[in-house]
Amino acid sequence: MKLDDRGLLIVISGPSGVGKGTVRKALFAREKHNLEYSVSMTTRLPRVGEFDGTDYFFVTRKQFENRIKEEKLLEYSEFVGNYYGTPIDYVEDRLNEGKEVVLEIEVQGAMQVREKMPDAVFVFIVPPSKGALRDRITKRATETEDIINKRMDKAEREFGLAHKYDYIVVNDNVENAADRIMAIIRAEHAKTERTIHKYMKILEVE
Ligand code: 5GP
Repeated sequence: MKLDDRGLLIVISGPSGVGKGTVRKALFAREKHNLEYSVSMTTRLPRVGEFDGTDYFFVTRKQFENRIKEEKLLEYSEFVGNYYGTPIDYVEDRLNEGKEVVLEIEVQGAMQVREKMPDAVFVFIVPPSKGALRDRITKRATETEDIINKRMDKAEREFGLAHKYDYIVVNDNVENAADRIMAIIRAEHAKTERTIHKYMKILEVE
């Protein structure tokens, strides 16, 4: 199968607290889009208002470990004591149907996808400033200063991986960030290596 027959895989990633989940939701709330969200699997408990199959597939550690053994995950990672992973079949099936698939995953998982699917598009979400990230982390959780500092340290280490991504999107405002991701997707569709086969055929160029 040629590159342009397969759908596009878009990986939205970045350190915890930058708002990638909010940006992803804003993207899917838009009226006109062709995106398919790959629902992840996790061993963490559902939060209030979360539904199995919509937000995550909630499973036990045993079930998750079986998925790892059976090689049914495109990537997985352990994050704050729980497993998170991307079921491979859903992603492969949608891409083979020519659909656009979006993953919203943390940085370690994104690096695994980069190895396995180098033609995916990797978007790194960053906060407008360190202060803004600290504010978000502080507001989001009822956590001690020590844990907040640990999260900030982890985020700062992960910022060092930005060069491994294709695009950096600042989340200064959720709708602006979603606009930028839409623009990236459009631009990726126009990339020569993704479209040349199709146009050569249409224009009957040998
Ligand atoms: P939360 O528990 O807040 O829903 O998610 C914790 C972190 O795990 C977030 O950074 C989220 O993006 C990430 N995450 C969600 N699903 C996956 C996944 O399938 N794989 C990986 N590697 N990270 C994920």
